[in-house]
Amino acid sequence: MLGAPGSGKGTQGEKLAARLGIPKISTGDALRAAVAAGTELGKKAKATMDAGKLVANDIVIGIVEERLQQPDARNGFICDGFPRNTAQAEVMDELLVKHGQQPIDHAIHLAVDQEEIIRRLHERAVSEGRADDKVEVIRHRIEVYTAETHPLLDYYAKHNTLSTIAGVGTIDEIFQRILKALEQ
Ligand code: AMP
Repeated sequence: MLGAPGSGKGTQGEKLAARLGIPKISTGDALRAAVAAGTELGKKAKATMDAGKLVANDIVIGIVEERLQQPDARNGFICDGFPRNTAQAEVMDELLVKHGQQPIDHAIHLAVDQEEIIRRLHERAVSEGRADDKVEVIRHRIEVYTAETHPLLDYYAKHNTLSTIAGVGTIDEIFQRILKALEQ
């Protein structure tokens, strides 16, 4: 699942995972859980996350490598929030080969314009109280997305695996668009 913060990757990834009977791997959720549990990894990642910056590649790659080897991920999984830059995408491809798994067969880009993204993130700041949804951090997270993650669209388009889906409308409308793209 690709898209700016607040584009609906988590929500749609969850629905897709349930529909396909495969797990959703979310590096953001894993990192937040590590922070909440106060693990060494969580302590290392917290300040970076609160500032809206990307956590070091080796940390997130370690999380993903461990997770994709668990039995429930052997038949596939949905990636939410990973890869976040081209280096992570390249390592991901290598990891899948290393562990005898199929390559990524589909990248779904949820396209939502910037004004709507900012509106949603402000709303989430109020309803969920996520530290990185603070007003001053929101702008930075969008900049990081534009500079580091947006180029991945080209990466997956080159591999012929990219579908761009309009990420506006009801949750169900967007989900139907995703299913249609996957069928094709
Ligand atoms: P998310 O919930 O996916 O928006 O992630 C929340 C925060 O966790 C991000 O702003 C980053 O600080 C960190 N994070 C999550 N996934 C990654 C990743 N793949 N690479 C680097 N940092 C990440």
